Amino acid sequence: MNAHLIRGVRPLGGEPADLLLRDGVIEAVGTGLDAGGADVVDADGLVALPGLVDLHTHLREPGREDAETVESGTRAAALGGFTAVHAMANTDPVADTAGVVEQVWRLGRRAGWVDVRPVGAVTVGLAGERLAELGAMADSAAAVRVFSDDGNCVHDAVLMRRALEYVKAFDGVVAQHAQEPRLTAGAQMHEGALSGVLGLQGWPAVAEEAIIARDVLLAGHVGSRLHVCHVSTAGSVEILRWAKSRGVAVTAEVTPHHLLLTDEQVRGYDPVFKVNPPLRSTEDVDAVRAGLADGTIDVVATDHAPHTVEDKDCEWAAAAMGMTGLETALSVVAEAMVETGLMGWDDVARVMSHAPALIGRVAGHGRPLTVGEPANVTLVDPAARRTVAVGQMATQGRNSPFAGRELPGRVVATFLRGVPTVLDGVSAHPLVGADA
Ligand SMILES: [Zn+2]
Repeated sequence: MNAHLIRGVRPLGGEPADLLLRDGVIEAVGTGLDAGGADVVDADGLVALPGLVDLHTHLREPGREDAETVESGTRAAALGGFTAVHAMANTDPVADTAGVVEQVWRLGRRAGWVDVRPVGAVTVGLAGERLAELGAMADSAAAVRVFSDDGNCVHDAVLMRRALEYVKAFDGVVAQHAQEPRLTAGAQMHEGALSGVLGLQGWPAVAEEAIIARDVLLAGHVGSRLHVCHVSTAGSVEILRWAKSRGVAVTAEVTPHHLLLTDEQVRGYDPVFKVNPPLRSTEDVDAVRAGLADGTIDVVATDHAPHTVEDKDCEWAAAAMGMTGLETALSVVAEAMVETGLMGWDDVARVMSHAPALIGRVAGHGRPLTVGEPANVTLVDPAARRTVAVGQMATQGRNSPFAGRELPGRVVATFLRGVPTVLDGVSAHPLVGADA
């Protein structure tokens, strides 16, 4: 059937080895392996990682196919080195029923670029008033395990408690978008010296930290799993460190853009830098990097948020919040964490594959690169440098904050169960019916 011999690759950045992928699994690992009829991929100088897993992607379908579709978003994901993504629930209609999550899951299978794991809404219509059909979504063909009102905060403490209690029955996790709504009404950028200078309504760090503090206490109280989306402040890292030291089952993610960019980017009022939560201070960037390196933050998640030009390319106050990220995430992590010496490629595998697969309960992903494991593999050239060109991306979104910027690292190939979705840095024919 399908076989590839990846010759001379460095698994997790270690010593060179050959990887033989056949019939969807890693059949052999060693040196001087016999191709035995397999297609040979010369991977001299490349690093092999387990296929990346994104806990936080906005694919926009159903409802905003003018901004992104499951097909375009997952093709972008494969080009970014991903083999599985979680599709956020803030679509139209909202993914708050078994019917909608199954629709998204089927669209993902049909596209075949990555395994799509739909996220279910916590509350009906993301309205924060009553719980959605969490059990029905968990029992559906989409087998939802991650629940989130992302875009909105589950700010009612009683509802949040009920959601945390409810998901325990099926080993689910509530992923909170931590934003106290009253403290951020009308907020436009990080609250600091610069927001005063620019005359933009500030978004205080405490609005994020207050919700995280409350939620780790709730999660500890009911003994349930909590995941915190896009952590952006030094104070949030401190609270998470405290909660983990107390044994609370909390995990957290940081986005690539919060690892690299600061509120200084907002000076030119270019809405490409408008995002929720906002770009923060240099001290915050240093803190989230340190938190990721020491394991306080478990995961890098893209928060890939494509928008149409009409929604994004307008005056600052009117522009939609969000940035694309799938096709630049690995390069940004290489720049912020690997080239700075804060992490090695084995750590990148941990935060971009192992940990997100474990949190999302994604079977067959985030596994070690050893014999018998599913052949979900990404090859990256760590020495390559490239200038980000939004016109050449697969995502329909043109709102990359890294446009025109030179970044290290290039995804050369992505294999989903042994079948290449990306070869030589370009899309290859995908599997049909991906997570069969
Ligand atoms: Zn969010």
